[in-house]
Amino acid sequence: MSAEIIDGKAIAAGLRATVAAEVETRRVAGAPTPGLATILVGEDPASEVYIGMKRRQCVEVGIADLHRHLPADTPQAEVAAVIAELNADPSVSGILLQLPVPKPLDGGALTELIHPDKDVDGLTAISVGRLWRGDPGLRPCTPSGVMAMLAHHAVPAAGARAVVVGRSDLVGKPLAALLQQANATVTMAHSRTRDLAAVTREADILVAAVGVPGLIGAGHVKPGAVVIDVGMNRLASGLVGDVDFPAVAKVAGLLTPVPGGVGPLTIAMLLSNTLAAATLQAGADASPH
Ligand code: NAP
Repeated sequence: MSAEIIDGKAIAAGLRATVAAEVETRRVAGAPTPGLATILVGEDPASEVYIGMKRRQCVEVGIADLHRHLPADTPQAEVAAVIAELNADPSVSGILLQLPVPKPLDGGALTELIHPDKDVDGLTAISVGRLWRGDPGLRPCTPSGVMAMLAHHAVPAAGARAVVVGRSDLVGKPLAALLQQANATVTMAHSRTRDLAAVTREADILVAAVGVPGLIGAGHVKPGAVVIDVGMNRLASGLVGDVDFPAVAKVAGLLTPVPGGVGPLTIAMLLSNTLAAATLQAGADASPH
């Protein structure tokens, strides 16, 4: 068997086109332009690259780029004040604090200050609670991107056995929640899981979000399974995932490459979340108080 390879770039381009069309429809209807306020503290080169990509793609789909760049030595209270100002600003639909923030700032505490209706990364405690309860709210971008991939390929989640390897707040846990809401039977595996291969071989849908290059080999995969590789590991040889791609491609039915798989979906979902945030806020404004 040779797996069909998922084209994350093409799926992301489709999602961006959908967002751009909806932003345009809102503009024609006279609704305010959605705006994304990214906050970068300091000059970390990798963070600057990520923020640059997010801002560029925002503008491309017609979302206002309301970026704030703060010096690395900005005190916690000042970053908090910027977040409070953005929370109160109706032109700001979404707020994203780029993590990690420089020491001694507390990125977790600062993230928690973002209004849940503007929390486009879906990382605040209220967003997490909304996710697990199945209430309307903003979901983390990478897990949403994985779900968008499965939907694009019409992978049936209902009744499927799904195994998520990795249990981070950013990827593994929210993805497990989303898969469970899509009626998959979900197992979460992690560094303490005994006989990982035996667990992952049960999966119809296997997601690796670990950060260990090539952890998932052919022996971890049920023939014909859908294998989604969230891992992004920078080696001297280049960017690789958590899945041994050449070996698993011979066993899986559907497989993501790295790069060009989940990565492009993450920013596309950020744009989609910013639009969703604008809609959420418009609904909140319209609801009786
Ligand atoms: P993380 O916070 O470091 O979590 C890693 C998880 O993997 C933990 O739950 C850990 O288990 C588990 N783990 C570690 N070694 C393991 C092993 N040998 N067997 C089974 N489980 C193991 O990482 P993350 O933030 O979720 O990111 C995971 C990967 O995804 C990274 O490569 C990251 O760069 C990538 N990523 C990609 C995107 C994207 O857009 N494509 C977005 C975010 C992250 P314990 O909980 O027991 O420690």
